[in-house]
Amino acid sequence: MAMFIRVDVDNSVIEKTSGLAQKLVEVCPVKIFKPGSAPNTVEVVEENVDECTLCDLCMQATEGVKVVKLYE
Ligand code: SF4
Repeated sequence: MAMFIRVDVDNSVIEKTSGLAQKLVEVCPVKIFKPGSAPNTVEVVEENVDECTLCDLCMQATEGVKVVKLYE
């Protein structure tokens, strides 16, 4: 379980935009997203979540992803 970061994914938002799931898989520099079992969805790769650099690219791509800092 990640200690510092939580990544929330709302696939009901992501699947509405064609190609968005694939874009998320490609955009994250530390591979936090992988293709989900249903078409046009993603899953979070939990073991990579703490590698998140807070680069914001996923949230710029969609409102269907929220990166939450668990520390401050
Ligand atoms: S903020 Fe950047 S590193 Fe973190 S999940 Fe999004 S794309 Fe990946």
